[in-house]
Amino acid sequence: MKGRRSVLIAGAGIGGLAAALTLTQRGFKCQIVERASALLEVGAGLQISPNASRILDGLGLGPALDAAGARPDAVRIIDGRSGKAIASVPLGVQAEKRWGAPYRVIHRADLQRILSEAALAAGVAIRLGAEVVDFAQVPAGVLAHLRTAEGEETPTADLLIGADGVYSSLRGRLGAPPPRFSGQIAWRAIIDLPSRNETGLWLGPGAHLVSYSLNQRGQMNLVAITHGADARPGWSEPRQAGELLQCFRGWAPAAQALIRAAPVWTVWPLYDQEPGALWGAGPTTLMGDAAHGMLPHLAQGAAMAIEDAAALADALAASPDRPELALRNYEDERQPRTHAAILQSRRNGQIYRMSGLQALARDTALRLMGTERLTRRLDWLYGYGLPAVTQPTNGA
Ligand SMILES: Cc1cc2nc3c(=O)[nH]c(=O)nc-3n(C[C@H](O)[C@H](O)[C@H](O)COP(=O)(O)OP(=O)(O)OC[C@H]3O[C@@H](n4cnc5c(N)ncnc54)[C@H](O)[C@@H]3O)c2cc1C
Repeated sequence: MKGRRSVLIAGAGIGGLAAALTLTQRGFKCQIVERASALLEVGAGLQISPNASRILDGLGLGPALDAAGARPDAVRIIDGRSGKAIASVPLGVQAEKRWGAPYRVIHRADLQRILSEAALAAGVAIRLGAEVVDFAQVPAGVLAHLRTAEGEETPTADLLIGADGVYSSLRGRLGAPPPRFSGQIAWRAIIDLPSRNETGLWLGPGAHLVSYSLNQRGQMNLVAITHGADARPGWSEPRQAGELLQCFRGWAPAAQALIRAAPVWTVWPLYDQEPGALWGAGPTTLMGDAAHGMLPHLAQGAAMAIEDAAALADALAASPDRPELALRNYEDERQPRTHAAILQSRRNGQIYRMSGLQALARDTALRLMGTERLTRRLDWLYGYGLPAVTQPTNGA
């Protein structure tokens, strides 16, 4: 193999940072180019399931994650109208025992800070305020076209990884189709409310609500999903709780109280990617939301980006002299799993927001299933890579 291979990564989100850290630990020379001029407090809480926690623990980040976040004891599925529990999936110690790593929740900004500090300490170069606008394959590998405040630059690297999010411009340059608007919007807020250490999944007609205790500072993360018609890509804006309460008319007082507790919410349109699109060509590949943007109803977007980082490093380490083949192997390995996650996220959204008889049938099925069967249905997702629970990948 020639000297240390260089990797240019577009995007310092969860995926780009995890890839840079993992690849640097494997001996690659990584530079991240990030469009934003600072790593700001974007987003809100993230649930980090055991499949991703295991990888982050392997990178040595477990103690920092535990200091900044929390480990919920359970997911409680709640009838949004009556406020009564329908079923529950144990997490905490039981999750760790079953899936070999903890189920955590953490603010996205904390996860991004932990990853960026570790990446910088490992020797990753992070260039802020620089956008990858185009790239071309050249004999030396790949030439990227950057736009910065100081002007244009054209660095070269052996490999280019597009970790530039769901509206990825690199994906567009590869000729893959843009993401698809789902007709849903996400409302997010963080409130100061010490609460039970668990995730609440509130189901109701046409909308659903997720609530979880975010950290030991007594903060609670709230995500409400409703229909929405505004498909402008990438918009995000503050909205008043009163507007959201309209979508939750007739819901249990406890759910409405949570909504009222946050006077202002930040609202995003929800996009995902049609499975089957091209992920890469030559020395370039995609990862994270750029490759497989998905709806948040399986809480797996960031987790899959972290899995991508590990798979990419494994593939490159397995074929050190044929990096382009390694990228294709990585894509072949990751596509079935991430496509299953895209589809399961869509299905979950439909199931969570059922009404009438369909909702009754859903609640009855959940009650009858019992804890063990509900937990077993998550093995394909959370037990990824563990010998005892290797695939089905269809979420059944
Ligand atoms: C409401 C909601 C709840 C969610 N909850 C969860 C959850 O509980 N668990 C979970 O695992 N996932 C969750 N997700 C999904 C998760 O947030 C995303 O999947 C994840 O953040 C994607 O990471 P990424 O690194 O691929 O992209 P991003 O985080 O979007 O990062 C992309 C980065 O690239 C930069 N960039 C863009 N274009 C360029 C360019 N041309 N050049 C350079 N830089 C560029 C951007 O500025 C950004 O910093 C949720 C999402 C939503 C909307």
